[in-house]
Amino acid sequence: MSRLRTAGLSVIAVVLVLVSWPDAQGTTPASPLTIITREGRRPVPTTLLNGQEFIALDELASLFQLMVREDALVGGITVTYKGRTIVASADQAMASVNGRVVTLPAPVARVGRRLFVPIDFIPRALAPIYDSPIDLRRASRLLIVGTIRVARVVVHIDAAGPPTRATIEVTPALLVSPAFDAGRVLVRIEADALDAAPPPAAAGLIDQIRAGDQTTTVAIALNARAGTPRVSTTTSTESTRVSIEIPLAAQSQDTNATPVAPQATPPPAVPVPGEPVPPLLGGRTAKLQTMVIDAGHGGDDAGVRGRKGTLEKQITLDVARRLKALVETRLGVRVVMTRDDDRSVSPDERDAIANNSKADLFLSVHVNGAPAASVKGAEVYYLRLDRAGEEARRSAAATELVLPALGGATRPMDVIPWDLAQASHVVASSRFASMLEEELEKHAPMGPRPLQQAPMRVLSGANMPAALVEIAYLTDLEQEQGVQSADFQAGIAQAIYDAIVRFRTYLEASPTP
Ligand SMILES: [Zn+2]
Repeated sequence: MSRLRTAGLSVIAVVLVLVSWPDAQGTTPASPLTIITREGRRPVPTTLLNGQEFIALDELASLFQLMVREDALVGGITVTYKGRTIVASADQAMASVNGRVVTLPAPVARVGRRLFVPIDFIPRALAPIYDSPIDLRRASRLLIVGTIRVARVVVHIDAAGPPTRATIEVTPALLVSPAFDAGRVLVRIEADALDAAPPPAAAGLIDQIRAGDQTTTVAIALNARAGTPRVSTTTSTESTRVSIEIPLAAQSQDTNATPVAPQATPPPAVPVPGEPVPPLLGGRTAKLQTMVIDAGHGGDDAGVRGRKGTLEKQITLDVARRLKALVETRLGVRVVMTRDDDRSVSPDERDAIANNSKADLFLSVHVNGAPAASVKGAEVYYLRLDRAGEEARRSAAATELVLPALGGATRPMDVIPWDLAQASHVVASSRFASMLEEELEKHAPMGPRPLQQAPMRVLSGANMPAALVEIAYLTDLEQEQGVQSADFQAGIAQAIYDAIVRFRTYLEASPTP
């Protein structure tokens, strides 16, 4: 219960107390807030009142589809969202959020006809009742709504040199593509938005650093004396680090040099100690760019049914969604779901979705069932080929069809019989399956045969490494209860995520076909 007033006689007084500021205008902060959603971004005006930053309630109402009502009975304003309610006090720096009291830096304020709340109202009062995550990042002036990949970017100049050395730290670890063009190093970051720290001032051979959050690119403009930069990228579980080393141009050692013509010979390579120096253009070759997460069953096909009525199709979707969020936000890998609601999808359709999205990895999520009620634990499967499949695997390189192309030329094209598409990926699939087994073991009980091969329809048509996980036995009473818990699901998602990280490393270490 809140301490907000509810009683009769004080009502009029309370409404009058809605703070009226003497200047009745407020001042505008140096920069607006920028709201970022899946749909895009736009500035959101705020107002400074007595040194506090406020946002107009009508603005919030249209951004977040809120109903706002001045409420004399409760002495403040009532904000409603999908049946959930915030009551913000007019005379006290607090609000009641679905009955729970939260503090605010200031009460609701009135400027002219408009009502304003402190911007902390957004994380403290609105976020707890809102459907999507809301993240207010004060330092970077960003208001992030929804599950969006926002990359924190910090640029350092480590040595003015020459050679000038700089690093770009990107958190979390995301794909980056460095390029060198027209005297600038451009590092594109595969994120929806950048949360960029103010860049350091020019130094050494660097004239200017800009972190353009419109384009999710960091641009480093080089001095005319700079030679061809060397760029290397390293990725840890927490972050991606881009190291840039800029030498002096070979033919212009003097400081009064005029802009240098393109060089016939590149300057001598000065590798960054301890780090491999890949070619500048293209950067790290990302071999895991897209993955498909297949939530088993759906629609009319409920899958295994637990004794207390838990349906496999619901658990598989829950786990698939958790995994998708992890993989997208932490790895920057694009995730395609074969279904994201309760609908039936045939095995062929699931494979078609995977093959058409050019996915690099396919994972099917299931929950097992057994006639014996005591069988429990997780199991991992990859495809067992029958004899035709084994032949297809051996001759995978030979199944090439030469098609006539424009101008009388021919062009080779892979023809893989649909149901044997998996054949050429069985080795990589078995590696992925082992990694899954090893990681799952750390988080969940394992089944009687934790890793096995089986002729599974949904795996056979996938033209990419593919595996299937049965996360538990729904026919075991204890596991039926377990699979519904957020803890268990989060553990499974984490285990699968860890296996995907390992598999990505495996892919990148293996030679390109
Ligand atoms: Zn199943």
